[in-house]
Amino acid sequence: MKNKLVVVPRMKSLIKEAPGFAKKELANYKLDILAKCGFGCRYCSSNTGNYLRINRKKFAACAEEQLGKPVTPTDNPSLMMVWPEVAKQLAEELENKPQSYGEGETLMFSMLTDGFSPSLVEEGITRAVLELVLKKTSFRIRVLTKNAVVGNPEWVEFFAEHKDRFIVGLSTGSLDDDWSRKMELGTSSPSKRFQALSNLQRARIPTFAMLCPVLPDMLDNESIEKMVDLINPALVEHIWAEPYNDRLNWKLVQSSYPKNSSAYKWFTRVYGEKNAPLWSMYATHLYQRILSKAKQEGWQSKLRFLLYEDKVTIADSYQFRGLEGVLLQSKSNTDGLSKYALFSEFQQNPSPLVEFEIPELGLTVSV
Ligand code: SF4
Repeated sequence: MKNKLVVVPRMKSLIKEAPGFAKKELANYKLDILAKCGFGCRYCSSNTGNYLRINRKKFAACAEEQLGKPVTPTDNPSLMMVWPEVAKQLAEELENKPQSYGEGETLMFSMLTDGFSPSLVEEGITRAVLELVLKKTSFRIRVLTKNAVVGNPEWVEFFAEHKDRFIVGLSTGSLDDDWSRKMELGTSSPSKRFQALSNLQRARIPTFAMLCPVLPDMLDNESIEKMVDLINPALVEHIWAEPYNDRLNWKLVQSSYPKNSSAYKWFTRVYGEKNAPLWSMYATHLYQRILSKAKQEGWQSKLRFLLYEDKVTIADSYQFRGLEGVLLQSKSNTDGLSKYALFSEFQQNPSPLVEFEIPELGLTVSV
């Protein structure tokens, strides 16, 4: 996918606190270096997020002026929106900060976009920005990308020189390169991302896994278990996993599947026909399958399953009792407890679970 580049007005500051990512235990600060990602994942929630929505008219006017027509991110996935002189702006922002800035904190690179969007990497902007963060702050930098370039020798060497500062993850929710070509426009294929992760691990660079979003077809044919094997659970620090949650872009995601496929029909039933229990069943099943594998292999303490508990039915809620490896993501009460009675109860009383095995299914079930 060749990007159509549009320059839009810069943000006031580039490094910001990120409470949403703190809740996910990923990072407490974030750094994005562009306004609209150079990749075009159909499930991406950034295009309908606050920043692009609020600036929609202003950015459409920039696109019209620079491209000759008012293109918006939702019309055209190849649109990439950049801020002018981003490395220079970051240098100015960090100029008067003490070297201790960010000590004991983690900075996400990036949160709403991919800082390894191809043209930024090619122009050396990504590298210049990361060098600045290394030199002028004390943050630990959590790199999250879908660009397998991070597994190439020059990047592996760069991260290896700063192992104490970097942790790198490649977000992947599928094993299927053909699926990815239709769903994740312009990204590296999943197989290249798994290879890049393995290259980083061979060089003993700290890594993490981001299985997101894991769509329902990954529950077929042990696909989810095969994908988990490819991230080498023994080597990563943590494993985040998340079901598909977005309600706004479901038609776009659905259109990437063949019309007669079970995945296509699943979207019609869950979102078109508003069959909420079907979503709950999928999210619960996904959690059970990952937790079961984690327990068999002994890495359950690494699991961070991101769950919007308001979408889970009461009947399914019991499968989350103990909240093992679960991070609740729905808006909570001011005391930090879930607004949903059963989940609030699980938070306060993580009672010992009764577990039993179903060998035919390879599952450990908790009740
Ligand atoms: S790489 Fe990430 S930020 Fe970029 S389009 Fe895909 S999901 Fe969105």
